[in-house]
Amino acid sequence: MEPAHPDPRIRILDEETINQIAAGEVVERPASVVKELVENAVDAGAETVRIEISGSGGIDRIRVVDDGMGMSRENVRLAFMRHATSKLQAIDDLHRIRSMGFRGEALASIAAVARVEVVTKPRGSGAVPATLLVISGGEVVEEGETGAPDGTSVAVEDLFFNTPARKKFLKSAQTELRHIYTIVEQMALAHPDISFRLLHNGREKIATQKKGTLLDAISALYGSDLARDLIPVRGRTAYMQVEGLISAPAHNRPNTAQILTSINHRQVSSAPIARAVREGYGTLLPKDRFPVAFLSLTVDTSLVDVNVHPTKREVRISREGELVREIASIIRESLRSARLIPQASPPPIPRHPRMPESGYTPSPGAWRVEAPVRAYHPVHREQSATDTQLRLTEKEVPGAARDALLPGMEVIGQLDAAYIMVTSASGSHEELVLIDQHAAHERVLYEQVRATREQGLRSQELLVPVILTLRPKEAVAVREALHLLLAEGFVLEEFGKDSFAVRTVPVVLGKQVEPEVIEDLIADVIGDDLRSAADKKEAVTCIIACRGAIKAGAHMTLEQMERLLAQLFLTDNPYTCPHGRPTMVSFSRERLDRMFRRS
Ligand code: ADP
Ligand code: MG
Repeated sequence: MEPAHPDPRIRILDEETINQIAAGEVVERPASVVKELVENAVDAGAETVRIEISGSGGIDRIRVVDDGMGMSRENVRLAFMRHATSKLQAIDDLHRIRSMGFRGEALASIAAVARVEVVTKPRGSGAVPATLLVISGGEVVEEGETGAPDGTSVAVEDLFFNTPARKKFLKSAQTELRHIYTIVEQMALAHPDISFRLLHNGREKIATQKKGTLLDAISALYGSDLARDLIPVRGRTAYMQVEGLISAPAHNRPNTAQILTSINHRQVSSAPIARAVREGYGTLLPKDRFPVAFLSLTVDTSLVDVNVHPTKREVRISREGELVREIASIIRESLRSARLIPQASPPPIPRHPRMPESGYTPSPGAWRVEAPVRAYHPVHREQSATDTQLRLTEKEVPGAARDALLPGMEVIGQLDAAYIMVTSASGSHEELVLIDQHAAHERVLYEQVRATREQGLRSQELLVPVILTLRPKEAVAVREALHLLLAEGFVLEEFGKDSFAVRTVPVVLGKQVEPEVIEDLIADVIGDDLRSAADKKEAVTCIIACRGAIKAGAHMTLEQMERLLAQLFLTDNPYTCPHGRPTMVSFSRERLDRMFRRS
């Protein structure tokens, strides 16, 4: 009888098939070819690497030219054999890898699925001819000599000609091109000392300089506007050295795509590192926003396992938890010591030289600038309420520290009862700084509420309890939130049907809070935003800070504004409110000159 399932015969695959399968892992798309060839150029000690992409409609040809060490005639042939590498002698070397490559697979893989033409000449070999080798689908089809400068040129054509399935999965030329740009950008960031040039159909798309710094590379790739506003990061721990540049909080993104990290000059994608960078910003950024960061980590090679991913995009790091915490604290420190007042950006150059952009010319009367009132007369009820608010948050401020806090800063007025106008000396120039009075006080309150909570709760009884009369649905929500409110120092008692008496509030709000402030605050606590907040405690803290803070629209005396600023500059993060919005914006002399086209 015949078996129902005949035993399938096991066969050893032929070499061509083996190579094609292996190639599939390394050579996924045109960008993988670029990555491998550029890595080889870097490993060969090149100072300049030129990448040429050409094709109409698709990507027909990729050529990478370097001025590296080149290869001898015997070595070129070897280089195309699988598992042939000059970068690894023994297994132990894997733990000391400093080169980009080590698997000895790339050239063999690429040659298995394309037509490859190599021209190479060892560096310093004088007037001897260069070696030419052409391999197609893994077979040598031509070998000879030609004239060429020192270094290596590898041209790849007809990619995936013998693997139609793979070819079918290629995306549009634009998409593939985008992946290539990304690879070249990453290489340029990880190797600022090497000049990279990318040409597409003869047009230069990327150009970095040799012997450059990270900042030079960033300027060349992303423009000098971004580069100018970056904050330097530097730190050293037991196993790691961190260097890089990160964005000021005002410059943020909706995802982590612009957090770029290299470990020992290899660009890697690491979610834990990206999270650590974000964590370093804390409340300097709105909740769902991320910074731009370029970090170059030098980590003891024995802690980094580079052999976990066929295209080496990911690495495994021992002691990852520890290193990641150190990264977060280095970022935090760098931000703390940086000057984080966002710079006002100059308006775009008007298209017609004699017609200023509308929206740029301030319409007269729209803003009201008030000259400061030096002396304090408690005439406005509003001003005395502001005084109470300031006094409450002032308790934490040592009186003597006040003057020292504002070196070279002078309050010159209040704009529209919302912004405090300050001049501030910065270097040899003065700059104009506008401070959002509400955001500033919010930051002060936020930090005090948090500190109070950590020191043990302090609350106080109101002189007159505030009675909340609610709709039934709201009353249910308040009952649900009672424990949260209590944890922050609010004591609420039921007071008849759907009414509550608020007897006690956090100390920072004071004994005589306006009933509306309490009403608004409770409305926020039972609102939808809090229900969906991941960290409810933190969200309540933000609500207290927001509702308790001096409002936009409150007229302030000069003295009150100075006191507020003194409090602000004692906080850990004076430059943003707890929601991550800026508390102040500065107009430097240089920016003003640019706005007025004086420079
Ligand atoms: P790997 O880079 O992992 O060693 P590859 O297949 O990419 O493997 O390259 C094989 C070998 O060919 C390298 O180890 C190197 O000796 C040599 N080689 C490849 N590209 C170049 C180049 N551009 N310049 C000099 N040598 C090269
Ligand atoms: Mg390689």
